[in-house]
Amino acid sequence: MAFQITKEMLVGSLMPVVVYWVYGGLYTMLGYTCNNYRLHPKEDEDDKNFASKQTVIRGVLFQQFRQFIATNLLYMLTRGNDAGASSGYLHQNKFLYKHLHSKHHRLVVSYPFGAIYSHPVEGLLFDIIGGTLAIFVSGMSPMTSAFFSSFCNMKSVDDHCGLILPGNPFHFFFTNNTAYHDLHHQLYGGKYNFSQPFFSIWDKVLGTYMPYELEKREEGGFKLRPVKECKN
Ligand SMILES: [Zn+2]
Ligand SMILES: [Zn+2]
Repeated sequence: MAFQITKEMLVGSLMPVVVYWVYGGLYTMLGYTCNNYRLHPKEDEDDKNFASKQTVIRGVLFQQFRQFIATNLLYMLTRGNDAGASSGYLHQNKFLYKHLHSKHHRLVVSYPFGAIYSHPVEGLLFDIIGGTLAIFVSGMSPMTSAFFSSFCNMKSVDDHCGLILPGNPFHFFFTNNTAYHDLHHQLYGGKYNFSQPFFSIWDKVLGTYMPYELEKREEGGFKLRPVKECKN
């Protein structure tokens, strides 16, 4: 039977969603207790952002629902086979930035579960179609794609968690990490650091790499500063 949802398919499409909320929830709890490791004061999440938390949660759930449908459709069509894709093109092209990617940038102060908040069309083109294509082309099984997509979701949540915690393995293995991506979310930072989601190689090749410095804030936590002058 070609059109049957199997246990593997459910794991493949649901595990990344569960990992997103569990990992994001963990960071949200840590965010309340680890004031000394925050990049922004907690209240800035509501004061400085251009989208409310309800709007963000609704947007993320809608995206995950569509992703769930698309992944299962692919599994059905291929009888059992995510990736994150984003492009600097969305920042360089003023039309695409204004109408699509700027939605993700409503979060100037990012937080864990805002990681995949984006315009529905951007979410469709890059995450759903891009992610589904990645599974299709690589020929991943549902179980392999479950782990791969979950890992991508964890990295994405980590990049948006707003905490510089000691011993974070993502910070050890990737130069493209929480602080690196936080600079990209600042009002001055949209022209820099948009290699996503793992490496910073393309920023270095294309001249959009912006090193940063972290200094201790008096009230606790860190303050992120670009090393060079950032022009908007
Ligand atoms: Zn982001
Ligand atoms: Zn961006």
